[in-house]
Formats: sequence, C-alpha cells, structure tokens
Amino acid sequence: MAEKNIFQRIIDGEIPAKIIYEDEHCLAFEDIKPAAPAHFLVIPKRAIASVNDVSPEDEAVIGHLFTAIRAAAAKLGLTGGYRVVANCGPDAGQDVMHLHFHVLAGRRLGWPPG
Ligand code: AMP
Repeated sequence: MAEKNIFQRIIDGEIPAKIIYEDEHCLAFEDIKPAAPAHFLVIPKRAIASVNDVSPEDEAVIGHLFTAIRAAAAKLGLTGGYRVVANCGPDAGQDVMHLHFHVLAGRRLGWPPG
C-alpha cells in the first residue's frame, strides 16, 4: 500500500494540526510554514490528489470547501480580504499530493504571484 501523505495523516488524527474548522467533509488548519500573517489550508477528507484529479462526483465536495473557507475566514476575522490558491503539479510547486486550498491574508498580497 502506498505511504499516507501528511494531510491524510492529519485527517486520520495521527499527527497534530491547529484546526480552525472541521466537518464531515473537510478540514481547515493552520499552515505549518505561514507565508502571510494568516495562512491556513482547507482540504477535503476524501482522498483527491490534486485539482487535476477532481472528477464529476467530487463536485459537491469541492463546492463545499468554499463554504468551509468562508466559515474559517469569518472565524479568524479576515475582514480585509484573503487570497485562495491551489497549486497543482510540479510547475506550480505542489508538494503534498492531497488537494488543498491555501488561504492567505493579513497583509497586502502582491500580484502576479511568483
Ligand atoms: P503545496 O506546496 O501547495 O503542496 O503546499 C503544501 C503546504 O503544506 C505548505 O505550505 C506547507 O507549509 C504545508 N504543510 C506541510 N506539512 C504540514 C503540516 N504538518 N501541518 C500544516 N501544514 C503543513
């Protein structure tokens, strides 16, 4: 069996995370290496490797992640706005092969990103 990735281990409760929001479909937790004053990740509990691996039966879950993003952002009081980013594949710098949205806030974010 393939080794579990780090996010699957967080979902399974094998390693700790600073959880901001959780429900039966998803989890939002602080990024261990924040790139902004507020930086958290939102992941589905279902094993989907990347945006490139999303299939039609995942559509409801993917939509739900945005409800979770909004709930987590409200919980943190991110009234100044935030950025949602999904890195997909090597050129985008995806390190963990479990689909995740980065949510970044708390400073002016440059555009275009690096
Ligand atoms: P990506 O490069 O888009 O795959 O992003 C992976 C993100 O996961 C990076 O921002 C890491 O800092 C973050 N990360 C890796 N391990 C952990 C962990 N154990 N807890 C929280 N965030 C993590």
